Amino acid sequence: APPRVVVVGGGFAGASCARALKRLDPGLDVVLVEPAARYTACPFSNAVIAGLRDPDAQVFGYDGVERAGVRLARSSASAVDADRRRVRLDDGTALDYARLVLAPGIELRFDALPGYDRAAADVMPHAWKAGEQTLRLRRQLEAMEDGGLVVLSVPANPYRCPPGPYERASLIAHYLKTHKPRSKLIVLDAKDQFSKQSLFEAAWRELYPDLLEWVPLSMGGQVIEVDPGAMTLVTDFDRHRADVANVIPPQRAGAIAAVAGVADRTGWCPVDPVTFESRLQPGIHVIGDAIIAGAMPKSAFAANAQAKVCAAAVVDLVRERTPAEPRLINTCYSLVAPDYGISIAGVYRPGDELLTEIEGAGGVSAPDAPRATRALEAMYAESWFRTITREVFG
Ligand code: FAD
Repeated sequence: APPRVVVVGGGFAGASCARALKRLDPGLDVVLVEPAARYTACPFSNAVIAGLRDPDAQVFGYDGVERAGVRLARSSASAVDADRRRVRLDDGTALDYARLVLAPGIELRFDALPGYDRAAADVMPHAWKAGEQTLRLRRQLEAMEDGGLVVLSVPANPYRCPPGPYERASLIAHYLKTHKPRSKLIVLDAKDQFSKQSLFEAAWRELYPDLLEWVPLSMGGQVIEVDPGAMTLVTDFDRHRADVANVIPPQRAGAIAAVAGVADRTGWCPVDPVTFESRLQPGIHVIGDAIIAGAMPKSAFAANAQAKVCAAAVVDLVRERTPAEPRLINTCYSLVAPDYGISIAGVYRPGDELLTEIEGAGGVSAPDAPRATRALEAMYAESWFRTITREVFG
């Protein structure tokens, strides 16, 4: 039988990896394990929340992945026997593998912020996994009266999509400015610094001066408790009563990572930065949001880049060749208004046990760029989304 590689998780990381494996070595038997019939993408979901984008534009099927020669197992992986190289699925199937790739994304921690459990997420949506939660937050904003208070709570690092909360704050502010101009948005943050900060802050001063207030950690921004019944968020200094509360809780690697023994005490997965093989379990690779990636952020762009590097390394290891040392790229676009985009880019290589950024190779949008440039970057963001989703799911 041909050597089998099992990939768990059909998101940006897993679906990219499965396709790359098949493309690099059509002789492999590649199985992608994913319970959902359709994938709902997070990038651009902030535009859905702000009423700027059709939710259907976020949804992708797996026909293209199957057409590429990947076999789909529509189930969840529930257990891994690393010694016997066998993964068990919820539907009772057991799959033997030559190599296993885990790409389960994140799990929201409902044990980290007092008061914020699974039931609280119905009242104070996180919308940090796209789909039902995205629409819930959008409906709450639509139902809010003009003059209401929206509170957005942002966790400490690391978490999925470092600039994501600030893009969300911007687009919610845009929605309020356009539809409910007497309303206010407070961003309560568990840190003092964030990605593309000076670009975001300059845009906020220009576009949403009296509407959006950012409260950093040092000003008492960290939310230490929530009460969904009373719609309150508690910080060291204050108690905020919100009309709409968007609570983004701390996160960890998707549950199967802990089950498989590839997550460490931080909840995330240490990997070799050349092969993405787990440092805790041989024969198991981990990619995407679930890993400790050093300087590389948890983004769809990064997940896709890691997936291709991991696929090449897995093929080399299965065929008993030595994997080459990779270079990886990431770009994260953010919209601060529909026609106002900013970006950050980086190039990474293995070093110091983790992925490190190559000095001077990346950068952020120019601080003094004209609005026409911002409008172009908003278009580039759209093109990026179309391109990556076509590559992964098309
Ligand atoms: P996911 O995309 O979460 O995929 C994981 C998959 O694994 C899921 O389909 C899940 O069903 C499956 N799975 C989990 N456990 C199992 C199991 N046991 N068995 C089988 N399957 C399983 N990134 C960007 O690059 N650009 C952006 O503009 C951007 N914007 C964002 C905006 C927001 C609001 C958010 C929340 C995120 C954004 N991101 C963006 C980040 C991006 O969404 C993530 O980094 C990316 O989805 C990570 O891919 P992944 O494959 O690791 O995880």
